[in-house]
Parts: sequence; structure tokens; C-alpha cells
Amino acid sequence: MNMNGFKKKRRKRSPKQIQKDKTWAACSKYVRIRDANMQGYEECYTCGKFGYWKEMQAGHAFGGRGGSVLFDTDIIKPQCYACNCINHGKYDIFIPKLERERGSKFIQEKSREQSQDKEYSLEELKAKEEDFKLRTVQLKNYDLII
Ligand SMILES: [Zn+2]
Repeated sequence: MNMNGFKKKRRKRSPKQIQKDKTWAACSKYVRIRDANMQGYEECYTCGKFGYWKEMQAGHAFGGRGGSVLFDTDIIKPQCYACNCINHGKYDIFIPKLERERGSKFIQEKSREQSQDKEYSLEELKAKEEDFKLRTVQLKNYDLII
């Protein structure tokens, strides 16, 4: 993920781009709370560093954010800034670890999905944002750490 790491050319962003960021923010929050303990702490998936969920980021197992796996919470895990940004996602650790947990068939299917472009409509993105928000408030630790 890179929400504000680079200076971009100023250009009016479309309602869909704005909604995509909102949906991603809701998705990222869901993943970071889902994987946090009752005190709100969690391990970076790829280096094991402990951090508070608000200081962690959500990273994908595969690169490229255009595919249908962008909001696939099966392949999104909490990561520290160093792993997610400086080390570009640490896929060399991420993918083998996920493969150990979920099996090689799972990884093959996900990487196939990842290569297929999926374009969401504005309505789909809005619905996804609402769904993530709903799933987030239902998490068992939500009331304790929010
Ligand atoms: Zn890390």
C-alpha cells in the first residue's frame, strides 16, 4: 500500500478513485483489527515485529493493486512500515509463509486471480466499504481497542 508515500502530480481525482481509497482504508482497518490481540497489538506478518494496530499497515501477498485481489482479505496481513514500504512487501517471506498456512493450491489460485484485471464500479466500491465497516465492528476485540 502507498497512500501518501510519494508526491503525485496534482490532478483532480475521480469520485471512483476517492471511493477506492475509502474502501481500501476500511479494508486495511478491518485486517489490522482482525489480526490484533485484545489489547490491540499484533505481529508484522513478515518480520514478527510487534506493533499497535494503528501503527501497522496492511500488506498484500502479491504486488500490483489493480487485480481482483486488492480487497481480498485472505491475502492481506498486517505488516510494519519497513516490510510493507521499504522492503516492498517482503514477498519472499510473505508468500512461502502463506503457502505453509493455506497450501500451494490456494497460492496458485490467488496468483491467477491477481493477474486478472478487475475493475470495480463506484457502487461496488461503496458496498465493499460498508461491508468492511460492518465486519470490523463485529470483531471480538473491536470495543476494547477502538
Ligand atoms: Zn515487518
